[in-house]
Amino acid sequence: MAGLLFGTGGTPHSAKTKTTIDGIRRIAELGLGGMEVEFVQGVKMGEAGARLVAETAARERVKLSAHAPYFINFNAHEPEKLRASQDRLLQTARIGALCGAESVVFHTAFYLGDPPEKAYNTVKKYLGEVLNQLKRENNRVWIRPEIMGKPSEFGTIDEVLNLCTELEGLAPGIDFAHWHARSGRFNSYPEFTAILRQVEERLGRAMLDNMHIHVSGISYGKKGEIKHLNLKESDFQYTELLKALSDCDAKGIVICESPNLEEDAMLLQATYNEIVY
Ligand SMILES: [Zn+2]
Repeated sequence: MAGLLFGTGGTPHSAKTKTTIDGIRRIAELGLGGMEVEFVQGVKMGEAGARLVAETAARERVKLSAHAPYFINFNAHEPEKLRASQDRLLQTARIGALCGAESVVFHTAFYLGDPPEKAYNTVKKYLGEVLNQLKRENNRVWIRPEIMGKPSEFGTIDEVLNLCTELEGLAPGIDFAHWHARSGRFNSYPEFTAILRQVEERLGRAMLDNMHIHVSGISYGKKGEIKHLNLKESDFQYTELLKALSDCDAKGIVICESPNLEEDAMLLQATYNEIVY
């Protein structure tokens, strides 16, 4: 049995409607394994709606994760923006947990001109408070800072792995396309393998069994990520990545964020299956 499930970031385009429920049904029809519920413009789902989502996902055997709102900055310079960031992540974790999501992915922060070490300490403090609150609520969702694609954004591999070693309840959200776009490098089998080995060394083998990965085609320039592209329109070496994931026996979920969503998710799944079987 292959260790990775594949799915889409948000409801597939070919779903009957844009709702999360129809998205889950379509994922199952397509033979995919998961879906990320996108709360990127705000958490507008209520508790009753979340419970219906959880029932549908369980019935259709679709694994869910959630993406927190974009308007989060754990290095904001204004206290009210920090508090709003904490509330948005908490709210995503609460509704996400009711949806049955195992992970919440989020964009941690912008440096805003601060030295990276200073931003790191601010992020650690305010994120730590969120994790303590979730622990008090007995919420066991994995909170996952995402690897980000622009040098202005907090979220290098080292920053995210360091946070994960220091804060309980944290796991990495590894966006291989972002990491490639940030430098133009990290687009080959040995580089992908090195990242996976780094995860294993820093966080233990258990984390390789519990991966949450984003993949898409991507365009980039001097300032990193420009936009997501379909895989075949980009230089991203997804077959190399899938070989590395297979050889390292990584398990978990791969969420496709290409503009064509399910088309590339199915391409990734099919390519992975050819490698594994
Ligand atoms: Zn993201």
